[in-house]
Amino acid sequence: MQSKTQETFDVLVVGSGASGGWVAKRLTEAGLSVAILEAGRPQSDQNFTEHRPEFSAPYRNRAPEVIRKTRPTQKDCYACNEFNYDWFCNDIEEPYTTPKDKPFSWQGRTRLVGGRTNVWGRQSYRFSDLDFKAASYDGYGMDWPLGYADLAPYYDLVEDYVGITGIAEGVDALPDGRFHPPMGMTCAETLFRNRVKDKLGWTTTLGRAANITKPLNGRSPCHYCGPCHQGCVMHSYFNAAFTTVADAMKTGKATLITNAMVYKVLTDAGTNRARGLLYIDRLTREPREIRGRVVVLCA
Ligand SMILES: Cc1cc2nc3c(=O)[nH]c(=O)nc-3n(C[C@H](O)[C@H](O)[C@H](O)COP(=O)(O)OP(=O)(O)OC[C@H]3O[C@@H](n4cnc5c(N)ncnc54)[C@H](O)[C@@H]3O)c2cc1C
Ligand code: SF4
Repeated sequence: MQSKTQETFDVLVVGSGASGGWVAKRLTEAGLSVAILEAGRPQSDQNFTEHRPEFSAPYRNRAPEVIRKTRPTQKDCYACNEFNYDWFCNDIEEPYTTPKDKPFSWQGRTRLVGGRTNVWGRQSYRFSDLDFKAASYDGYGMDWPLGYADLAPYYDLVEDYVGITGIAEGVDALPDGRFHPPMGMTCAETLFRNRVKDKLGWTTTLGRAANITKPLNGRSPCHYCGPCHQGCVMHSYFNAAFTTVADAMKTGKATLITNAMVYKVLTDAGTNRARGLLYIDRLTREPREIRGRVVVLCA
């Protein structure tokens, strides 16, 4: 029989990654009580290994066959290595199915607070109206019901919080953001950029990345050590674990429940509205119930 929490939360957020972290931050800052249910384990600076040399790993980070025993699919993700593979879900314990004629290698499934923002590549671009209104330009698909002007204020809001480094180029197809100072190009890259501009008139620019290059909200600027997918004790890249989720927790209005694998949304028979969730506590393997007035699925 499942155990129940007594409290009824305003909102239950399932997943603590890119989207769940934002939802929890915004709602708690607005004064709502939020429970974040995360199937994975807690994340902390102690788990970060970006400064550990490969020779310090038992297999020198050279034995993919060891990782494949538990993560045969996740190992194909470039970001999964000997230092961080236990951040990724165990493919044997958590398999997934696809139709026979539509095989899919679902890489990058993580199981810890922060979700895939722990290991993501941090490339962060604004869409332009070439994207939103693509059908009007090329005849394929459908236009979005909104355009760049509608979303621009939200891009500003997110970028101001996340911190994106890049070069403003004034190119319509790739709208500029509110950038942190650019990381800089090498001599060869600068030569290439200038040649391409001179000969073709095209713009070559730096990747726009969620790595801060000046201090932001207690986070330190990136020092370019490289393996961000192993974490960052400086908190220089955007990882929901130490940004949105941490800020939601600071409000005192968030409750983070880790190792909570949600498997059912409970609805009220009369109103047909969500009233709670069922989840498995992965440590005790017991089912539990939690109550909330609204459920937001971000998993
Ligand atoms: C290697 C890699 C590189 C990437 N590079 C980029 C990039 O450069 N730029 C870019 O824009 N995007 C990139 N992405 C994609 C980006 O990380 C994802 O689009 C984004 O994190 C998705 O956010 P999300 O909140 O939907 O999911 P996630 O961030 O994955 O969060 C979902 C969370 O929900 C939890 N969860 C799942 N099921 C349940 C359940 N039943 N109950 C409770 N919790 C559950 C998971 O454990 C996870 O923590 C990359 C992804 C990977 C893996
Ligand atoms: S964000 Fe910068 S400092 Fe942090 S791990 Fe990545 S490269 Fe290193």
